[in-house]
Amino acid sequence: MLSDALLGRSRAGDALGSLASAVARHTGVPFGVPVARARTGIYLAVKSVVRPGRKVVLSPYTIHEVVNMVICAGGVPVFADIERETCNANPTLCAELIDEETDAVLVTHLHGLAMELDELAEVCRGRGVALIEDAAQSFGTKLHGRPVGGIGDAGVFSFGMYKNLTSFLGGLVVTRDAELFDRIAGEAASYPAQPLRDIVAEALNALTTDVATWPPLFGPLVYPLFRYGYLHDVEWLNKRVRVEDDPRRRSGEPSEYLLGMRDTQARVALAQLGAVESDCAARIEHARRYRDGLSDLDELLLPPFRDDGSHGYGYYPIQCDDRAALLRALVTDGCDLAAQHLKNCADLACFSEWARDCPNARATADATILLPTYPRYGVADVERNIHAIRRFLGRSS
Ligand SMILES: *Cc1c(COP(=O)(O)O)cnc(C)c1O
Repeated sequence: MLSDALLGRSRAGDALGSLASAVARHTGVPFGVPVARARTGIYLAVKSVVRPGRKVVLSPYTIHEVVNMVICAGGVPVFADIERETCNANPTLCAELIDEETDAVLVTHLHGLAMELDELAEVCRGRGVALIEDAAQSFGTKLHGRPVGGIGDAGVFSFGMYKNLTSFLGGLVVTRDAELFDRIAGEAASYPAQPLRDIVAEALNALTTDVATWPPLFGPLVYPLFRYGYLHDVEWLNKRVRVEDDPRRRSGEPSEYLLGMRDTQARVALAQLGAVESDCAARIEHARRYRDGLSDLDELLLPPFRDDGSHGYGYYPIQCDDRAALLRALVTDGCDLAAQHLKNCADLACFSEWARDCPNARATADATILLPTYPRYGVADVERNIHAIRRFLGRSS
């Protein structure tokens, strides 16, 4: 996949069009619009359904740039606290927060876990409020058999570096609404293509990550280096594994987001479409193993286990009150995992204008560790993580 892209092995063609229709079909809707990043898609979707100064109900437990996209699109964020188990906004609370000033609800399906949407979708329809799905982490997840992203009025997928389908940068908005499609596609058509050098930079970044995580290098060299960095607070090393740092409020949509995807990127994404379902199945099996190995530990809060396709487990997020001690013990023990660095946006100083007490998001942001589930990850690695956690909690098996 990477080699195809770097070698430019393919003819010029409308790969973007093919990607848009393939992803739309995958999601069960007629329309798709490729964009430079998922955040661009969120901005466009919000702007297309929300009038300036109107409210958008959303989860506070997401990347801060999502909140910025709502603000830049003219919306007023209203944070709806999450449920700790799923890490997703509480659907009942979302419905309660809708009032006469609300134009949209923006839900997030975090970690590949679909948020329960049926009743909320009905409330939104009844009250003339748009439902937008941030499915950036959840391409391929199906809620009661319906692909997420295709349930609301618009859905957004990310094909960024760390997502389950990647074109290094990129994203796609899907919708069943022809009028909404015209509005979003019309504006997206005016965006210039992502500069090639940005994509090459991301591709090289991916290549570096690929090389760094190549087992002969990762075990003896890369992992010990990062472990040292973590255990000894070496900032220049630690900051390499942190993403979406430094939250600040944006006053206008940055021009580097108002870009389109390239044909080459679409080809990279298209080449991965066929593997989405089997990857999802592999992740669910890893999740099952984690659940079986950890569910008797009262010190941990685990995500719900579902194998009906509604929980795709981009990661298996576990929560522990003493995250720092657990993480330190795990890393010392040789486990390659990390804290979930998402913050509770309802508490961020830069968004204080929209501050709201969200105790679940606050607690979750301090407690979550991401256990890897990627399909390449071995059963032995999963078991090692489980045993290390049990050892730390004094429950060796
Ligand atoms: C990654 C991510 C985004 C943004 O995706 P980009 O393609 O990087 O813009 C939005 N929401 C969630 C939940 C994400 O994980």
